[in-house]
Amino acid sequence: MRYLVLAILLVTFFTACNSKEESEKAKKTVVKKEPIIKEYGFTFNDFKVVRDTIRSGDTFGKLLEKYPLKDSLRIHDVTEKVKDSFNVRRIKAGKPYIMFLDKKKPNTLQALVYIEDRINFTVVDFRDSIVVSNKQKPTTLKRRVVAAEIEGSLSETLSNAGVSAGLANKLANIYAYTVDFFKIQKGDKFAVTINERYIDDSIYVGVESIEASYFEHKGKKIFAFPYKLSENQKYEDFYDENGKGLKSMFLKAPLDYFRISSRFSGRRFHPVQMRFKAHNGTDYAAPHGTPIKTTASGVVERTGYTAGNGNFVKVRHSSTYSTQYLHMSKISVRNGQRVSQGQVIGKVGSTGLATGPHVCYRFWKNGVQVDPLRLKLPNAEPMNESHKQKYLAHIAPLKKELDSITAVKFKE
Ligand SMILES: [Zn+2]
Repeated sequence: MRYLVLAILLVTFFTACNSKEESEKAKKTVVKKEPIIKEYGFTFNDFKVVRDTIRSGDTFGKLLEKYPLKDSLRIHDVTEKVKDSFNVRRIKAGKPYIMFLDKKKPNTLQALVYIEDRINFTVVDFRDSIVVSNKQKPTTLKRRVVAAEIEGSLSETLSNAGVSAGLANKLANIYAYTVDFFKIQKGDKFAVTINERYIDDSIYVGVESIEASYFEHKGKKIFAFPYKLSENQKYEDFYDENGKGLKSMFLKAPLDYFRISSRFSGRRFHPVQMRFKAHNGTDYAAPHGTPIKTTASGVVERTGYTAGNGNFVKVRHSSTYSTQYLHMSKISVRNGQRVSQGQVIGKVGSTGLATGPHVCYRFWKNGVQVDPLRLKLPNAEPMNESHKQKYLAHIAPLKKELDSITAVKFKE
């Protein structure tokens, strides 16, 4: 009996000891175990991995000098072999790269990964024959509708809603002709259906495209849907729920920030000439050097200098419309040049007959000078009936989706 008790005690003792040892062993293996890192098609754990950044003066050849190459390989041969698929001159200072080395001495170079950007990378693999491949990380698009009540600025509201700030610029561009973002106020709302790109399903890249949106200012919703009228069109234009273009043919003014110092009038006292005469333009006062933008796309018809106009540019937009910009300190376009709406064509100055820096903006309709501030100006490219039917069918479900979602307040 006594022996039995002792035996049980001994067994218990040894068992206890054993299990303690075992758990410690287990702990050790847990600590030792490295996480498996897989990226760019390599299992990092299988190599000695060196991450570095291209420095100025680095060449592809110089990178290859850092570690031994496989027995028979010479740098010159590698560069020759690689050049068809990887432009080695393309490597730029500041870009990261990774070298995968053999874990055993003398650490021969097994592969080099040049990282172009968050998505694109090039792999030069030396393991068998030299293989170069330009690759992309797998990315996915996720679609969602963001509907928010404006709190502060548009970009603040978007950042509270967890959307990249780039969307604010996209929306500002879409609504540049219809919403004055300096006047947005509390209670204004917007909703936007976006596709956002992610790398490996988890790393946020940003907003890739907009499918639909509305902006509600003082209770009025302005819808915008991207649409191409023809397949050849490179970028979509935005139209409202009735197929009317959101981009007006003319910008409201040739300057972003200005003060109208003199309006178009049949008779005004000329401050330099000291007499009454017609003023066939609108004067926008702004600091010397402020960029002047062409208010619509077209072709530069004339540039030059006259004693009265100073440096000037005239742009022909269509058979009906032309505009002219006077008193420039600098002209940035030449005759015959094609310009697009909003493009900078010169800078504000006070050349010619001018008392201070301003741009005199002149507007022709069918060869007659008119006041653009009094004109009902046309929208670019009205949609024809057959386009319109297709367009309305396309936007119907998108609009329904936006209307069904309530704009909420996103708090920081
Ligand atoms: Zn003027």
